[in-house]
Amino acid sequence: MRLILFDIDGTLLWTDGAGRRAIHRALLDETGTAGPIEGYRFDGKTDPQIVRELLTLAGHPECDSEDRIAAVCRRYVELLTAELAKPTQATRLYPGITDLLAALEPYEADGRALVGLLTGNVQHGAALKLRSAGLDPARFPIGAFGSDSHARADLPAVAAKRAAERTGRRFTGADLVIVGDTPDDVACARPMGARTVAVATGFFDTAALRAAEATHVFETLSDTRAVLEALFA
Ligand SMILES: [Mg+2]
Repeated sequence: MRLILFDIDGTLLWTDGAGRRAIHRALLDETGTAGPIEGYRFDGKTDPQIVRELLTLAGHPECDSEDRIAAVCRRYVELLTAELAKPTQATRLYPGITDLLAALEPYEADGRALVGLLTGNVQHGAALKLRSAGLDPARFPIGAFGSDSHARADLPAVAAKRAAERTGRRFTGADLVIVGDTPDDVACARPMGARTVAVATGFFDTAALRAAEATHVFETLSDTRAVLEALFA
């Protein structure tokens, strides 16, 4: 059985900056600074990592306070809810995602696959973004989130443990496939020997994802048959 774990932002969907705006406001509300957020890259990072790094870059005295970081993340979820509810909000799924998720259903039904999430989003934020794009969070019965660890590299083991608890099977090495849009998604797979399917729908092009040594690289996930072949290779 394959454990197939999807990243969210840049891989399944794009919130058109709603996540960035919500973190920006949450930092200002809770700490009075968002640091050098204008030129700062979010992709590949976990939400608490983003908060910690921006507070550190700002020289904020509470940059290492778990309580302060958690408070910013809670405020972020409130603000994200409001951002995603705006009539102007345009969350979109990337090409091929709807078809790919539908094509995976028979694999899940007969036990060849278990589909889940591996994302830097805190869990509640992940659910908000999925719903905003018309996806039911329950579509992904396994998940590892930024709320589980600041470090993305910790998340494959979290997902594998939850998958084992659910199925009674062990997931190791090539049983895991991580689907993501950044070199950080590829790197987090390495400690467990997981395979990676990297997609250039985010800010990294196929050359950058190949250089990161992704197992498979796609421009988009729209060629369902080719992506399935890669997932079950
Ligand atoms: Mg991403």
